[in-house]
Amino acid sequence: MNYTIIGAGKSGLNAAFLAQDLGHNVFLTEAKSETEAASAAKALTGRSIDAEFGGHSDKGLQADIIVTSPGVPPSNPFIQEADKRKIPIISEVEFAWRQLDTAKNPVVAITGTNGKTTTTALIAHILNHSGKKAIACGNIGTAITSVVRSVEPGTILVVETSSYQLDRIVDFRPDVALLLNITPDHLSYHGTFEQYCAAKYKISLNQNAENVLILNADNEPSKAAAAHSRAQILHFGIHPLQQGMYVSSGKLLIPRGLPDSQHKEEQLMMVDELRIPGIHNVYNSMAAALAARAFEIRNEDIRDSLMSFAGVEHRLEYVRTVNNVEYINDSKATNINSTWYALSSYSKPLVWIAGGRGDNNDYAALDDLVRSNVRCVIAIGEEADAIFNHFSSMVRCMKAGTMNDAVHRAADFAESGSVVLFSPACKSFDMFANYEHRGQVFKEAVMGL
Ligand code: ADP
Repeated sequence: MNYTIIGAGKSGLNAAFLAQDLGHNVFLTEAKSETEAASAAKALTGRSIDAEFGGHSDKGLQADIIVTSPGVPPSNPFIQEADKRKIPIISEVEFAWRQLDTAKNPVVAITGTNGKTTTTALIAHILNHSGKKAIACGNIGTAITSVVRSVEPGTILVVETSSYQLDRIVDFRPDVALLLNITPDHLSYHGTFEQYCAAKYKISLNQNAENVLILNADNEPSKAAAAHSRAQILHFGIHPLQQGMYVSSGKLLIPRGLPDSQHKEEQLMMVDELRIPGIHNVYNSMAAALAARAFEIRNEDIRDSLMSFAGVEHRLEYVRTVNNVEYINDSKATNINSTWYALSSYSKPLVWIAGGRGDNNDYAALDDLVRSNVRCVIAIGEEADAIFNHFSSMVRCMKAGTMNDAVHRAADFAESGSVVLFSPACKSFDMFANYEHRGQVFKEAVMGL
């Protein structure tokens, strides 16, 4: 068959390699020039894959099937032309799924606006610490197409799936699906909030009564997914629920048995025994515990795993304490919602560094938290003026030209016993290659204090 792969990022490249390994004719088309996509061009050397850079020519339309990459929007003219010609277009996750035998390799899929990577890593951690074998893959870093050909029977695939990947699935049917939360984000790709929700709901599109869908009872758009699903539904929330996993008097309660979730709940652990901070991580931990429970992992193992999970880099990552001031790197907070959770995760006084490239940011959602927890706001990047103007009537505000400048201003201002929190609420592309780069620069500045 003739496969066209759009995009030479990690998922596109690995989809191309998989298609080639399966014996198909592969054509890879990338919008960036060869110089801009130099590392992709290098990865192709020696693979004899027909590839073009710098735009999508009609050659790619001579395909039986097209595999598209996350981030190529539906409005892309090439995609529109392919749709018009009725060429099937699938995502890399769908392509990988078609090569899997889920009787041998069960699949857990995680989606949501925030918390995907943390929860994916957490589920893999629990499973691996409880006598199972699991691989975290998908958006978390290792492309799922790079895993499916070599994965051993019995290994559970724990797949972080973005709405972009889900938007183009056909048969993808995870044994266990998690929809952590939905709040407005990526609307420039999906168009409307309804379309964004619809893409997320696809995680359960093909699920049946043998499958499990785990939903957030405290987030209406997540909860509403139940109406679109045939799977067994399990809920988690921080208030007592009729059934599901929830918090009561500082304890995490988990259903006794699955799939029969009618059983009463029992205590799993105390909330303050969780190693990762913040209420959002209570949510992530409950979602992960329910997923583990679907694989019949014992409470003791879930508890031990939750107590030993140290979190993922760039997500409320502890960097260092200087002069009794803690420095926290939350560079992955690229939207208001994730920063809301970051600001609510600390009871100590905060010096908050924020800014970068906005995405129609509405900072008002943070007002109450800033008034109560934040002593000083240090604004950087393209949003520096907007942040300064928004918060300067509430709290001390400063602008900084560079990350180093911001960190030094924070260090000068912060009193003993406080926390310097870098949680930008913005994308990184105004000053950095990506959020990882931004987080590294922050950490280097902190290490240099
Ligand atoms: P994702 O992969 O969905 O972007 P991450 O686990 O990488 O999620 O976390 C992204 C950011 O969101 C981090 O700043 C983190 O502290 C915050 N976050 C993590 N989990 C949640 C959640 N359940 N709700 C809101 N924010 C969260």
